[in-house]
Amino acid sequence: MHRFYEPGSWNADVVDLTDDEAAHMLRVLRLGIGERVTVFDGRGESAVAEIEDVRKRSARLRIVERLPPSDAPGPEITLITAVPKSDRFRWLVEKATELGVRRLIPIRTERSVVHPGDGKIQKMQAASIAACKQCGRNDLPAIEPLQEFTEVLSRPTSDRLLIADPQGAPLCDVRLRSPLQSGLRLAIGPEGGFTAAEIGFAKDAGGEFVSLGQSILRIETAALAMVAALRFGRAEAL
Ligand code: SAH
Repeated sequence: MHRFYEPGSWNADVVDLTDDEAAHMLRVLRLGIGERVTVFDGRGESAVAEIEDVRKRSARLRIVERLPPSDAPGPEITLITAVPKSDRFRWLVEKATELGVRRLIPIRTERSVVHPGDGKIQKMQAASIAACKQCGRNDLPAIEPLQEFTEVLSRPTSDRLLIADPQGAPLCDVRLRSPLQSGLRLAIGPEGGFTAAEIGFAKDAGGEFVSLGQSILRIETAALAMVAALRFGRAEAL
């Protein structure tokens, strides 16, 4: 069943689709009155709904069945990451959304070369909506604006902090030594790596340095491999 995103409230079991979502439904998919679709609000709610009325640029849906929330496996992950070049950032956002990342914080580090502005971040939010529509996820990840790495690490939180570092301890050893709690922050550096000062700052912030082996991975490869390992690997240790 086709999926549509509508973040507004669904009072009286009526959902109005407008803008891009209505255009997708009416002009791209050419759905019409009486057809059934799934609608989700980006906060975890979803429902089966029937198309009740269509206008030129909007469609009215009536909810016929609210669907139970789907449980995500593994810990809640905040991905704190340097930004890869060109389309690789969009790719990272799409895959991180599919893999269930809860929050993505793009960071500025001393050796960063890519600094996305608000327009680029909005495009990334659109990419995460598209990924949610495609993969069946009902809660949108939060995609934050670009921030300083050190400021992000200074936020008060009890979430455990892992720093991806080729020289760190093997990821599986870390997990076996101390089981992960529900919230996890995972930091990925820029192509030039974190500087000694940033590494010192991360250590002071309680960061644990974890490695996926000797190979130097691209930002997005390291991020996604870590996320997949943390969420789906050795579930009994999580
Ligand atoms: N030039 C840097 C590597 C940068 S790669 C160096 O030689 O250390 C970009 C980021 O991806 C790194 O900062 C790190 O966070 C992550 N990364 C790359 N390869 C990794 C690996 N094998 N294990 C863990 N993290 C890795």
